[in-house]
Amino acid sequence: MTDSPPPSDLPKTAKSAAFVLFRPVFFAAAAIGVTLGTLVLLPRNQPLPTDLQTAEAPASAAVSTPLELPAPDSPPPVTAAEFQGFQMMKPADPQAATTEAPASDRYELTLRLEKGDTIEKMLADIDVPEADRKQIDEKMNALLKKRRLAVGETITLQMQTLADQPDAPRVLSLSVRPQPEREFLITRKDDGSYNGEEKVYKVNPRIVRVEGTRHGSLQQSGVSAGAPSGAMIEFIRALSYDVDFQRELKEGMKFTVLLEQLVTSDGKITHPGRLLAGQLILGKRIVTIIRYRPAGGADGFWTPQGESVVRSFLRTPMDASHITSGFGWREHPILGYSAMHTGIDFGAPMGTPILAAGNGKVVMAGFNGGYGLYVKLQHTTDIGTGYGHMSRLGPGIKPGVMVRQNQVIGFVGATGMATGPHLHYEFYRGGHPVNPLTQKASMRAALGGKDLAQFRVLSQRYLQQMKSAPHPADITAEAKPAASSRKTPAQEASGGE
Ligand SMILES: [Zn+2]
Repeated sequence: MTDSPPPSDLPKTAKSAAFVLFRPVFFAAAAIGVTLGTLVLLPRNQPLPTDLQTAEAPASAAVSTPLELPAPDSPPPVTAAEFQGFQMMKPADPQAATTEAPASDRYELTLRLEKGDTIEKMLADIDVPEADRKQIDEKMNALLKKRRLAVGETITLQMQTLADQPDAPRVLSLSVRPQPEREFLITRKDDGSYNGEEKVYKVNPRIVRVEGTRHGSLQQSGVSAGAPSGAMIEFIRALSYDVDFQRELKEGMKFTVLLEQLVTSDGKITHPGRLLAGQLILGKRIVTIIRYRPAGGADGFWTPQGESVVRSFLRTPMDASHITSGFGWREHPILGYSAMHTGIDFGAPMGTPILAAGNGKVVMAGFNGGYGLYVKLQHTTDIGTGYGHMSRLGPGIKPGVMVRQNQVIGFVGATGMATGPHLHYEFYRGGHPVNPLTQKASMRAALGGKDLAQFRVLSQRYLQQMKSAPHPADITAEAKPAASSRKTPAQEASGGE
C-alpha cells in the first residue's frame, strides 16, 4: 500500500545535538490533493466489529503519496534563564475540577506551539474567526513585546461554541505560562473585545508530596488526598500517552505526586501546587513522569530515561480524567475487546469531548452505518484513526480540514449500534484496523548532552523527594507564623483551586 516507513521505524537521531524534537507529520499541501483524489471505497471482507454488525468497514485510503518525513528541529538558542524545573499550571478553573460531564458549549483546549507556528495560525486551525484572532494576536504581541514563545510551549484555551455559530468557536481565554512566575493571559470581555494582562507571581517555592490510592476517578482520588485538581489533570494528561486508564488502572492502585507550592513570606499559599513529578503504580509496572525544561525548549514531562512522554498519538483519545473507569472492560468481555472487535471502546459520559489522537486531516465526518456519527482522520499515508458513536461533531470538523493533536473533533454519544454512550476508537495501518494499544508510533523527543546530564540530577532529586518530601497539610500546620509577622501582602495569583 505504501512503501513509506511507519513513524516507529524512523531513525532515531543519534546525533549529539541536545534536544531533538520530531515534528508531528502533516501532509504536504501537494500530497493532500493526491490523497483526496485517490481515496477509494474498497469492499472489505474483514470481520466486523461485534457491536457494529451492520456497519460497513470505513473506507481505506488507497494512497501512494510519499510520506513527508518529519524534520528534526535544530537545537534552539540557549538562554541562562531557561533552565527551570517547572512550568505552567492551568489557571484556576473550578468547573473543570469538579464536573464530570462538561458543559455542552464550553471546553478547554491545550495545544502545543509547533515549529514555525504562531498563535494566530493555531487559532486559524481551530476555526476561530479572523477578527478575534487578530485581536488576540495583537494583545499577545503587546504582552510579549519582543520575546518569543518557545516551540512546544503549551497554550491553554477556554473555548465556547454557540449553537447558532457551530463553525466559529469563541476563545473565552488564552493563557501561556513560560515561567512559573509569569503568565500571559488574554480574556474575552462581555463586549467581544479582548483584554491582555501579564500576571506576575511573587512567591517562594516549597516542595510537598501527596500520596493517594485510586478510588473511583484518579483525579478525584488525588484531590481527596490533598493534591490540587489542576495538578491531577496535568498528571493524568502526562500519563495518558502511556497508560490505558480503562484497562490498566484498577481500584486501590497507588500514586504519588510531587508538587511545588508557591508561598508568600508570611506563609500564604498563592499556588496550591504545580506538578513537578509523579508516579503511578500499575501492579508491576511503575510509570514515572518528571517535569523538565530543556535549554531553549518548552517545558514538558519526561520519562526517567529522558524521553518525552509526548507521542505522535494519544493512547486515550479523550481527556482521561473524564473516563468513567470500569465501563467497557470486564463487564462486557464479548462487546468489549474480543478478537472480532476492530477497535477499543472507551466509556465516558455523554458529551465528553473526543480529541484528535494526532495531527492529521479529516477524511470522513458524518453518519456511517453502525458506527453512527463517525470521524476518520488520516495522519500519515500509513496511519489513520476512526471515532464512532459521536453525539455531534466538533467545531469546524468536516472532510478536508487539518486537525491538531488534542483538538476536539466530536463529543461522546450513542449513535449507530451502541448500547450506551462510549467512544469506539480505531487505529488503521495501511488501511487495516489494528489494536491501538499495541502501536508503537512513538517519534518521541529525547534529551541529550548537557540537558540529559542536568535532567538526570533533577530526576534523581525528584525521585528521592517523592519518598521524603512532607505532605502539604503537615507543613501548613507547623509553619503558620504569628499573625504580626506579616510583611508583604500576598501577590494575588490565580491559585486557589
Ligand atoms: Zn466498539
